[in-house]
Amino acid sequence: MTRTTPPRPVDIAAVFPELRAYARTATRLHPRPGAPARTDSSVGGPLLWPAGEPWPACNESHDESAAAVSVAWERRRRQVLARAWAAGTPPRLTADEQRLVRDELLADVSPGPRPMLAVAQLYARDIPDFRGPAGADLLQVLWCPFDHPDLFDHPDLYCPAVTLKWRRAADVIDVLAGQPEPAAVQQFRRYLPEPCVLHPEQVTEYQYGGLLSEDLDQRIEAWEEASGVSYQYELSVANGWKVGGWANWNLTDPYSMACGDCGQDMDLLLRIDSAEWDGTGSWRPLEDVSTAGPAPHKPTQVTIGRGYSLWIFTCPASFDHPHKMSMQLTHPHPLRPGPAAGNQRQARTARCESGTGKCVSDLQICLSRLSESSR
Ligand SMILES: [Zn+2]
Ligand SMILES: [Zn+2]
Repeated sequence: MTRTTPPRPVDIAAVFPELRAYARTATRLHPRPGAPARTDSSVGGPLLWPAGEPWPACNESHDESAAAVSVAWERRRRQVLARAWAAGTPPRLTADEQRLVRDELLADVSPGPRPMLAVAQLYARDIPDFRGPAGADLLQVLWCPFDHPDLFDHPDLYCPAVTLKWRRAADVIDVLAGQPEPAAVQQFRRYLPEPCVLHPEQVTEYQYGGLLSEDLDQRIEAWEEASGVSYQYELSVANGWKVGGWANWNLTDPYSMACGDCGQDMDLLLRIDSAEWDGTGSWRPLEDVSTAGPAPHKPTQVTIGRGYSLWIFTCPASFDHPHKMSMQLTHPHPLRPGPAAGNQRQARTARCESGTGKCVSDLQICLSRLSESSR
């Protein structure tokens, strides 16, 4: 089944023709639970991996204070819940199942390199906005499912350590039969993706408001006040997992995403999101009318931090240059009712009381404090 994003409420480029210069396509991946094969694009599915190539392992420092739960237990928990939801609403669990779901099975986390977890596999043939080195037609994304302090040069970024691997699918002759994976994932984080097949759809996006010229941004803001339509939420950047397009900066305000090797401004490669749409349904595909199950808007069961999205950037000069990441809010949606634009613009200019300048715009809490409290 295809997935179709509902039409946007306004053709914003007809209102502001200057925005055409800031239009970009993005491919919404629309992951949905399924049984992907190695030859399929997927989230959480098996990777087409050469038998003779070492599987990536994490050597970064982890958040040592974090406990871990067994991957086997987490899968069992999901099976029990899925079966209960399929049997009827409200779901009913036996006493044993209740115990299993409630009592997290803590796991020892062995020191030393740990195998990474397959997160996504994207074939160029499926993804109109696929980018990669010359000749590459397959991108594989893996991560270590623990929060890592001091990743890259962002000391406040607590998130999984990500590895990107591009290859030419035809080069993989002898395929690795089994697939290594870590025995445990971090407790209270949901970094174990559910196997999902993809239903890619190309959409048009427009640059984040705060990165447009001040004049244009102010005119859009005035238009938002008059029309009641939020540019940032409904018209600029799509919700959910996606490849390419523009990034949101709704948690931190924009900051430089320059390549550490050559200094060039990096491009957005991939957004890994905690949810595909929110309660307004603005970004919910037309085909996803059913609300059955515990969380149809969270098909991958991945939750970044406390429900954010993870943005992965690559250098336009070379895919050999290290990628960078950012963590932002999933939905740039005003938290309070009322004129959407007014709330967002006001929040975006709020200043952090801690004096670090790292104000969290919509929530008006400090990013550095957020990192401390989430440890
Ligand atoms: Zn790690
Ligand atoms: Zn570079």
